Amino acid sequence: MKPSLWTVLLLSFSVLAFAPERAKADLDYLVGIGPRVAGSPAAAQAAEYLAAQARAAGYAVEFQPFSYTRSRDTGSSLSLGPTRLEALALSGSPGGTFEAPLQAVPGVGAAGDYAGLDVRGKIVVVRRGVIPFLEKARQAAAQGAVAVVVVNNEPGAVRGTYGGVGPIPGVTVSGSEGEALFARSGERARLVVGAVLEQAQARNVIARRPDSSAPSVVVGGHYDSVQGAPGANDNASGTVTVLELARSLAGEGWAKDVWYVWFDGEEDGLWGSRNFVQAFPERVRGLKAMLNLDMVGVRASPALGVGGDAALLRLLEQSGAQFNDIGNSGGSDHVPFAQAGVPVLFFHWGIDPNYHQPTDTVADPKLLAETAVAVRAALERILKQ
Ligand SMILES: [Zn+2]
Repeated sequence: MKPSLWTVLLLSFSVLAFAPERAKADLDYLVGIGPRVAGSPAAAQAAEYLAAQARAAGYAVEFQPFSYTRSRDTGSSLSLGPTRLEALALSGSPGGTFEAPLQAVPGVGAAGDYAGLDVRGKIVVVRRGVIPFLEKARQAAAQGAVAVVVVNNEPGAVRGTYGGVGPIPGVTVSGSEGEALFARSGERARLVVGAVLEQAQARNVIARRPDSSAPSVVVGGHYDSVQGAPGANDNASGTVTVLELARSLAGEGWAKDVWYVWFDGEEDGLWGSRNFVQAFPERVRGLKAMLNLDMVGVRASPALGVGGDAALLRLLEQSGAQFNDIGNSGGSDHVPFAQAGVPVLFFHWGIDPNYHQPTDTVADPKLLAETAVAVRAALERILKQ
């Protein structure tokens, strides 16, 4: 049967358009695997799925293996007399059990916050935010503290990372339980940091057209998630949006040298993107842009947030895309590229209440499609002119 012109148009449209229902199916698959902790069988299964899907869309796929040291939390707590708080060891924290006086440090534990305090041999309590966990630990260690307790700046718990091996043990406690600690300086506390150091064997998944020898743009997102969280929004949302974008752009001539990279080990400290930048200096040098998608499936703020390079943000604005400029936001896989001099854009709808929780199980396909429109607009502006 000869297809009508209308059928041909419909077919070509369905091939080219971003299909939210397909992205949803990808997302359901990834979330169904369970938490995709770097180096775990679940993460391996996710990587195989992404590779198979990219190959099915016509891409050549390469795996980039790498390894790093991290700590695994085997159970941590902070006790003051009969009061026992659940704690979460920071990734990269040494383990150990400490009995020492507690010392509240005002502010976020920056150098200036220690003025007039003697914290030698003590367990310090600081607030989350402003400076990285590792910096808080370095300051505490420099002042002679034996361990650092970081109180979350939101009511719930949070898993954090040193992004490497920390100088002293560190944990986070929930904001709701931890706030009271600031009134208990001088009391003896018992801190158990159940952390064992281990080697994580991780891998990035890199997809390119078979006829592309070097990338002009990398579009990426991390596919790993934290322990205990199935990571629907963080970051199966970005992962499947990148995948469906790859499918929808597979036949576009102008997008030939767009490479799609799914990063591993982001949650332990941007290991995947850092390793990509280190391992492929030539590829990185030729990049016009790197676009990173992280947490794009839950409307945690009124508008899509896009941060990064000022010139790229202007280009995106000219395309008519609707977004909120979130400035030079850090904390995700665009950072190592920006540090290597690559203009970056970071697409992010904000931190939702299920962030790093077992309840991070949903992402809105409509929002993924909305994000994809903006990413595609940026790509067209970057590559077509
Ligand atoms: Zn993330």
